[in-house]
Amino acid sequence: MTRPLVVYGFMATGKSTVGRLVAERAGRPFVDLDRAVEERTGASVAELFRQRGEAAFRALEGEELARVLDREDAPVVALGGGALVDRATRLVALDRAVVVVLEASVKEIVRRARAQGGRPLLDVPDPIARVEQLLAQRRDAYLEAHARFPTDSREPDAIAADVIELWMRDPIAVAAGERTYSVEIVRASGAARAAPLLAGATAALLVTDRNVDAHHGEATLRALSAAPCAVSRLVLEPGEEHKRIGSVERIWQAALDAGLDRGSAIVALGGGVASDIAGFAAATWMRGVPWVGLPTTLLAMVDASVGGKTAVDLADAKNCVGAFWQPRGVVCDVSLLDTEPERGFASALSEVVKTALIGDPGLLALLEANAAGVAARDPALISDIVRRCVRVKARIVGLDEREGGLRATLNLGHTVGHALEAHGAYTRLTHGEAVSLGLVAALRIGADLGVTPADLAARVVALLAALRLPHRLDHEPLADAAALIGRDKKRAGDRLRFVVARAAGRVDTLGLGVDQIREAMRRLR
Ligand code: NAD
Repeated sequence: MTRPLVVYGFMATGKSTVGRLVAERAGRPFVDLDRAVEERTGASVAELFRQRGEAAFRALEGEELARVLDREDAPVVALGGGALVDRATRLVALDRAVVVVLEASVKEIVRRARAQGGRPLLDVPDPIARVEQLLAQRRDAYLEAHARFPTDSREPDAIAADVIELWMRDPIAVAAGERTYSVEIVRASGAARAAPLLAGATAALLVTDRNVDAHHGEATLRALSAAPCAVSRLVLEPGEEHKRIGSVERIWQAALDAGLDRGSAIVALGGGVASDIAGFAAATWMRGVPWVGLPTTLLAMVDASVGGKTAVDLADAKNCVGAFWQPRGVVCDVSLLDTEPERGFASALSEVVKTALIGDPGLLALLEANAAGVAARDPALISDIVRRCVRVKARIVGLDEREGGLRATLNLGHTVGHALEAHGAYTRLTHGEAVSLGLVAALRIGADLGVTPADLAARVVALLAALRLPHRLDHEPLADAAALIGRDKKRAGDRLRFVVARAAGRVDTLGLGVDQIREAMRRLR
């Protein structure tokens, strides 16, 4: 069963009408949250506002919402217009439910409110100005949603049909203000699913690399031809060595040749390299045009698809030129992974284990119980894994889009991993293999510091082994690699924010001295 559906929006946008219709058609219970709060407290919303004040009412509303979202029968929930103004509550709703916002023009809102006998909030001399003011105050609350549906001159029936269609796709929202977008996980026909994301674009450019193009270029282009604009294609050379500004310049030139103006869009089909380059080109072309992600590697699905980091490398520095530029949407079609080369796929499993450790103990257990199926790329398992990883990362990015703090926890295993990767001149180990060893190191250092339970470290080492990832540190050049620790870009003076696991699903950052980490690393042998 999909998650609950939350129908949200300003007053008089039709939340209860549409919510009821959707519930009836989908055969799910309907909950009007205001009524649920009234039943629980035995007082009307108006009385609660008057007697206890808005803050106390919002707290009651938040508690009731949490209860409703926990229900096994995944109901349709209509919320009052102020219920998700608090961002923490909104992020919980976005994580645990599919949230749709119904919208209407200011005039239409006032007209409907009057027709429904008026609303106390609009009982002022200039209701239009009042609605405008409230909408401006709550702008973010209505922007951060899985989807927004206009309701002016549309029948509730038609809106309900669109809402059900969206709900059943079970998208995951990445909350980033007006750049909020959804990631969908499908098991076939991803490009066809992505075509509507090009609605309104004047032209589009599909950017991919030669390897991916050979397997998936034609079919993707064909599916995208359903988009309402012309789509041309640019094929780049594959590999990290081409993640350079020269490739971006090729995209700019192709965009110019194909007539991509400010209303155009870019589609990235490929692994993390293609999407980092194409996303950066989108961030800079005409000072920023939308882009759509169609990831084709496990790493690009579980990691690069969330958070809008785009970048290219300099000769000696990875990802040092880039931009935060959220895509318009991402569709992860796990059938495209069938052709991903084995080493890349297996390497990405270390990021999956890392994500489970950071925020999803159930995923850790799932991996342990199904290591062979995962390695064999069982499509049902892989789509479940991608979904869970995207959800964990979306939760973290929603709280910390610009990497002010929490997002740094995604670097679990990366401090030692980066050092080993750099020591091997980025050729001996893949990034994912280095992260696998880095995870083992971080868990053992955490255990040494007394913060990581020793049995968790042992459990993860066994899982990495079952997934055929490197996990033995005894032959690793730890002492030499330790010298490279200080080069980590997360360094602040002689200290580093080192990520440790406190339990499965619970991590923390500790400010440790660079020398202390080097010493701990040498002791790992
Ligand atoms: P990649 O994009 O280089 O792809 C690996 C290889 O597989 C390439 O040769 C590619 O042509 C080929 N390939 C990709 N998909 C294929 C498919 N389905 N079938 C056949 N061949 C296929 O590598 P990657 O591991 O996907 O990504 C690594 C890059 O991602 C790094 O540059 C890293 O910095 C970046 N990254 C970015 C983010 C982010 O948040 N933006 C997150 C993680 C990693």
